[in-house]
Amino acid sequence: MDVIHLLPDNVANQIAAGEVIQRPASCLKELVENSLDAGATRIQVLVRDAGRTVLQVIDNGCGMSESDARLAFERHATSKIRQAQDLFSLRTMGFRGEALPSICAVSQVEMQTRRAEDETGTLLEIHGSDVIRQEVCSCPVGTNIKVSNLFFNVPVRRKFLKTDQTELRNLLTEFYRIVLVYPKTHFTFVHNDEILLELPSGSEKQRIEAIFGNPSRNSFTANLVEISTDTELVSIRGFVSKPENTTRKAEQYFFVNGRYMRHPYFQKAVLTAYSGMLPGEYQPSFFIYFDISPEAIDVNIHPTKTEIKFADEQTIFQILMASVREALGKFTLAPQIDFDTRGSIDIPMPTNRPASAPQVTIDPNYNPFHTRESFANRQPSVKGWDQLYATPASPKQSVIYPDRMEPEVPQPAADGETLTADSLWQYADKYILMSGENGLWLINQHRAHVAVLYAQLSDQIRQDQGAMQQLLFPEVLHLPADEMVLIATLLPDLRAIGFDLEQLTPDSYSVQGIPSQLANQSALPVLQHILTEVRERGAGAREEWQHQIALALAESIAIPYGKHLSADERLHLVQSLLRLPQYRHTPDGKTIVSVLTDEEIGKRF
Ligand code: ADP
Ligand code: MG
Repeated sequence: MDVIHLLPDNVANQIAAGEVIQRPASCLKELVENSLDAGATRIQVLVRDAGRTVLQVIDNGCGMSESDARLAFERHATSKIRQAQDLFSLRTMGFRGEALPSICAVSQVEMQTRRAEDETGTLLEIHGSDVIRQEVCSCPVGTNIKVSNLFFNVPVRRKFLKTDQTELRNLLTEFYRIVLVYPKTHFTFVHNDEILLELPSGSEKQRIEAIFGNPSRNSFTANLVEISTDTELVSIRGFVSKPENTTRKAEQYFFVNGRYMRHPYFQKAVLTAYSGMLPGEYQPSFFIYFDISPEAIDVNIHPTKTEIKFADEQTIFQILMASVREALGKFTLAPQIDFDTRGSIDIPMPTNRPASAPQVTIDPNYNPFHTRESFANRQPSVKGWDQLYATPASPKQSVIYPDRMEPEVPQPAADGETLTADSLWQYADKYILMSGENGLWLINQHRAHVAVLYAQLSDQIRQDQGAMQQLLFPEVLHLPADEMVLIATLLPDLRAIGFDLEQLTPDSYSVQGIPSQLANQSALPVLQHILTEVRERGAGAREEWQHQIALALAESIAIPYGKHLSADERLHLVQSLLRLPQYRHTPDGKTIVSVLTDEEIGKRF
């Protein structure tokens, strides 16, 4: 008996679907790309429950004839290539003829389509590869495909889907990658009857602004510089951040011949062009469009991969870097490196600047190289700050400290309780100096306060005990679509920490109450900072985003550099810091305490 047989088509399709359609976002990508290939100028995406229940794409493209409509769902049926050679001159997005059969294998599809030359259209209904219905219908020119109950027959796949918020964010990410290359096409994105994005036809710059601009902030594109280079090998156009407008979370997009691609090597070229201009971990945003002869790239045969190989990557690296450099060079920008953005403290060692001694009542017997005993039994004399700096006895946040940071910590010179106000100096309104066991301790005041506040806030958020202060005049926070999705995820925790937020319109929230620690600060930049941090760190589990919220809020309200601290403030800050189990580094690993050892000091004389 023969053992080899062909798989029934529906099985083969389900297997292929596993490759092509991994989640609603991949389905969206295939459908929208088909609409673009069909020459549509208007494309509407309607989504329900992040694409789980319904994912519908309506276009005004060329439509299909009755027989093509049916053929489109057959494997390797495509109108886009006829022979293998065609692959190399490919300018359309799809070409494998795999998407529609894969989609219908794992969902219930209903399609209406009509060409301009036909009087009537075709309606086709397919459930899991079985044609349920095919009939003549009346419908507008173009194609309307509705994909319902994705993975209804593949429970394992369904189980792999993340929360609606995550899947919706994936949908939007995929959508951005497409719509950024088709600014002339009018797109609409609707989720659960709410219009999340309305992108009218316009220029590339207008498209970028429409997506990433935020009405409550400065224009996004005003912070971009244009780049443009034409060589025989490649033409490169696009926009990159002005160096002073880099952020920790940046929007970074490469496109080649109208397709999104990831390209770490070219990303490096861009970053290299900024070298010396970027503070610490800051990143530029960029939107860079390559145009290159299709023969010079390896078309990504794999449907879901976004990496593309170029024939001459080193040369393009150079061209790209030079192009970005040139654009940046048009702005004479003296890079300003902010202390806060750097990974570790650079102590400005020999300097003529006096420590701010006048603020300290100097004990005539004061010896800056005190030993531990010198502090013994002196009691802090001031009250009031305790509350602000109060921390729970044993914060449970140690998980987030990288292990490697713990062993290098020298023992504290004094436990917080035995310190006194006049044993602490403030230097440059930035550091607190104190005598420690191994030498002179330099404590970064802002970071110290971040760590102290973080311990307090992360406890409040976990225990839902944030102190809220009602605002007399609510503030309005406008957000782009993806941040609206994000903030919805974070709402319970934002409330737990003391924000009172109410959705106002599909793209805004009203802020009615703020954590009491925020006092008179505007809540908007703080919320913005929180959203940026969570988005950038890609927080997955709830604990992670709680951590990000607490940290971002702590960073926003911690005492800034340049603030002069009274003796009592210094004392209470240091005491609270030393009470933390991890006081050497902030929760995100920045140095708080740097020790100038006795030995190092000795060597200077
Ligand atoms: P591919 O895009 O790789 O050719 P698909 O399975 O995505 O394969 O689509 C199969 C064919 O169906 C396409 O080649 C095209 O002819 C037709 N088609 C799909 N979607 C549309 C649409 N929105 N408008 C017009 N034709 C379409
Ligand atoms: Mg396709």
